[in-house]
Amino acid sequence: MNAIKTFYKKIFSEKIRINNRRKLKKLNGLFLKGNNVYCNCCKQSFSRFLDKSNGIDIRKNAECPNCGALERTRVLFEFLSNETDLFFKPNSLLHIAPEDALKDIFKKSTNLRYINGDLNINFADEEMDITSINYPDNTFDYVICCHVLGHIPDEKKAIDELFRVLKKGGKALIQTPIHPINNTFENSDFKTEEERLNNYGEKDLLRLHGQDFQEKLKRENMLIEKIDYRNKIDNDLAKKLSVGNGYRELIFLCQKI
Ligand SMILES: [Zn+2]
Repeated sequence: MNAIKTFYKKIFSEKIRINNRRKLKKLNGLFLKGNNVYCNCCKQSFSRFLDKSNGIDIRKNAECPNCGALERTRVLFEFLSNETDLFFKPNSLLHIAPEDALKDIFKKSTNLRYINGDLNINFADEEMDITSINYPDNTFDYVICCHVLGHIPDEKKAIDELFRVLKKGGKALIQTPIHPINNTFENSDFKTEEERLNNYGEKDLLRLHGQDFQEKLKRENMLIEKIDYRNKIDNDLAKKLSVGNGYRELIFLCQKI
């Protein structure tokens, strides 16, 4: 099996392998016809969403088989659609480590000047180091950065950069896994994937954010609001969307003043 995997990796580039994985996942949708769940990102219904595992726990009804949207992505899209003018005005948007489901929507939104970037060029249109964003100060009306900061060694620099490229009045929307009780937990002695998985819940996280995360975002020229938008969604729709347990779905809305 390992020999086949190595052979497959040798023949196909990472970009093609990523595309193949997406196409294979989409095939799952053909076997999940039904109306129990609904993905607001791709407007399709299924009997259920796909399970998602971090190697320890399994989340039921997590991933849309068609567009790959997760619980947090569906909550964020609901918030963006209902509570912001992102889709209703000419806006410039920087999307870090873009989720495919949102990337597809943003690219089709003719009101947006849309830039997306990732450290790995195979996941985005531009190669981008979030601790040194290659755009001038005050460039974007919106910045979206979800489940990225926990992976960045110099997190403070990354937050400074996200806010630097925001226009005055612009909004950054940030999501990250948040421990429901404890403050942020980080131990530089955890070097292996196993240690990180056991302590942070994901094998490539460098810390698990907690109740003090809002403090970490605070800057003199920024208003920070923590929003659990799951609670604002109508109950029936929230059930159909499968909006998660609040561990990954909180939205930190950061406005530059
Ligand atoms: Zn979808």
